[in-house]
Amino acid sequence: MSNYNAVSQDLIKKLAEIIGDKYVISDPDRMDPYSHDEVTDPKYKKMPEVVVLPANAQEISQIVKLAAANNVPVIARGGGTGLTSASVPFKGGIVLSVERMNKIIGIDKENMFMEVEPGVTTGDVQKAANEQGFLYAGDPCSGDSSFIGGNVATNAGGNKAVKYGTTRHQVNGVEIVTAEGEIVTFGGKCKKDSTGYSLLNLVIGSEGTLGIITKCYLKLVPLAKNVMDVLAVFPDLKTAIGIVPKIMSAGIMPMCVEFMDNESIKCCEKFLNEKLPNSENGYYIIISIEGDNEELLEDQCVTIDEMATEHGAMTVLAADPARIWKARKAYAEADRARSLIFSMEDLVVPVDKIPQTVEKIAELGEKYNIAIHCAGHAGDGNIHANILKDQLSDEEWNEKLPKLQNEIYTAVYQVGGKLSGEHGIGYKRVKLLEQYANPVELKMMKAIKQALDPKNILNPGKVIDIG
Ligand SMILES: Cc1cc2nc3c(=O)[nH]c(=O)nc-3n(C[C@H](O)[C@H](O)[C@H](O)COP(=O)(O)OP(=O)(O)OC[C@H]3O[C@@H](n4cnc5c(N)ncnc54)[C@H](O)[C@@H]3O)c2cc1C
Repeated sequence: MSNYNAVSQDLIKKLAEIIGDKYVISDPDRMDPYSHDEVTDPKYKKMPEVVVLPANAQEISQIVKLAAANNVPVIARGGGTGLTSASVPFKGGIVLSVERMNKIIGIDKENMFMEVEPGVTTGDVQKAANEQGFLYAGDPCSGDSSFIGGNVATNAGGNKAVKYGTTRHQVNGVEIVTAEGEIVTFGGKCKKDSTGYSLLNLVIGSEGTLGIITKCYLKLVPLAKNVMDVLAVFPDLKTAIGIVPKIMSAGIMPMCVEFMDNESIKCCEKFLNEKLPNSENGYYIIISIEGDNEELLEDQCVTIDEMATEHGAMTVLAADPARIWKARKAYAEADRARSLIFSMEDLVVPVDKIPQTVEKIAELGEKYNIAIHCAGHAGDGNIHANILKDQLSDEEWNEKLPKLQNEIYTAVYQVGGKLSGEHGIGYKRVKLLEQYANPVELKMMKAIKQALDPKNILNPGKVIDIG
């Protein structure tokens, strides 16, 4: 039972007065795309009561004030590419999509900043930065369709996090609308800020539960002239991952280091219908390095080649990065093509614990007789483990999955890991956070939510449930 009021016709009329009739959607067919994110299990779907498409922070402020006065939740939505059902309105209410707020406001070349609205896709942010000779280093694999506001709200990781960090490290400021409808900016163009608590960092990764992001100030770095990719194929994962710290300690700072286990490679090969190197028995490490000095980069590729070969690589290839990246990026889609319903785990462990964790996951897959494919960001210990429903009946799946997940998380926490490296808690992992987070940490998180959103209006039931 929800403690909230239903969205009434009168409320819909008032919403239309704020943003205009055509930006208020209540037709079920048109609302359907807003009823889920990229989680395909139908139990993670819920139709909004109404969808609104505001044009600016002032309109959002009025919507939030109206919602609070009527005791109706507001759920911010970006590109809907999330993998935790964080933007799905499970407690009813108004889904607020920022899709019309898609302007790049400006690029400040001298201060190396970009000011953008939250509905710009990550890909467009990257492209605009590149056109001016800069790199925006946030780079989730979903960049073609995820929004920058969604990236900030989830603290998205991605391919370049080894060198540049997650989205948190690319954001210097945000403008938000608070739960009371106030408009406030945290941070901005200053490079440093020790002026009290970092409210900016509280908002980043808060998944729409502490404020609605209406503007982002993004850091830019000079764009390197060259990028080179190396694929090293190993006979097992332990040897494969073992190469990562060796490369780092040799003074090479890769931009990204990705891994794929053999089952993932085979599944992508089938999905793409393209032969992939050593797909019979190989484990991939994909390394990208960047820099201005082409000769130096070539030397570094040779060093990586020598180190990988000495470390037991079966094949090292510097060629054909497009094909290898296509395979890595198709990982989730390939699994979805095989099994529409699957659970994508987003575990993070210390880098040296990846092999034993992946081995444990494989062992548990055998124990429960469920296929699990692992790939991810090896350079920062982030393991994506796709647990596939395949032909299991709904009953078997619902019975086995939580048990299997619990065993996986227990193993992850035993080696100092955590539930989520980059996708967040959303709705899917609320109970798990309650179960696995440190109780003091949890108490503090609840106190923050209670203080900043006492009516529990903003995306209720996500991250932590104070309802
Ligand atoms: C194929 C694929 C690959 C992916 N690869 C990666 C990856 O490499 N790294 C990674 O980290 N993630 C990845 N993801 C997950 C997803 O793309 C990210 O979590 C992304 O940041 C979500 O952005 P979005 O705009 O789609 O947000 P949505 O899914 O719309 O929303 C996600 C959360 O952000 C909140 N939110 C959205 N906009 C705002 C706003 N303006 N203000 C406040 N809150 C807001 C929502 O309420 C919700 O809680 C991938 C997903 C897919 C489908």
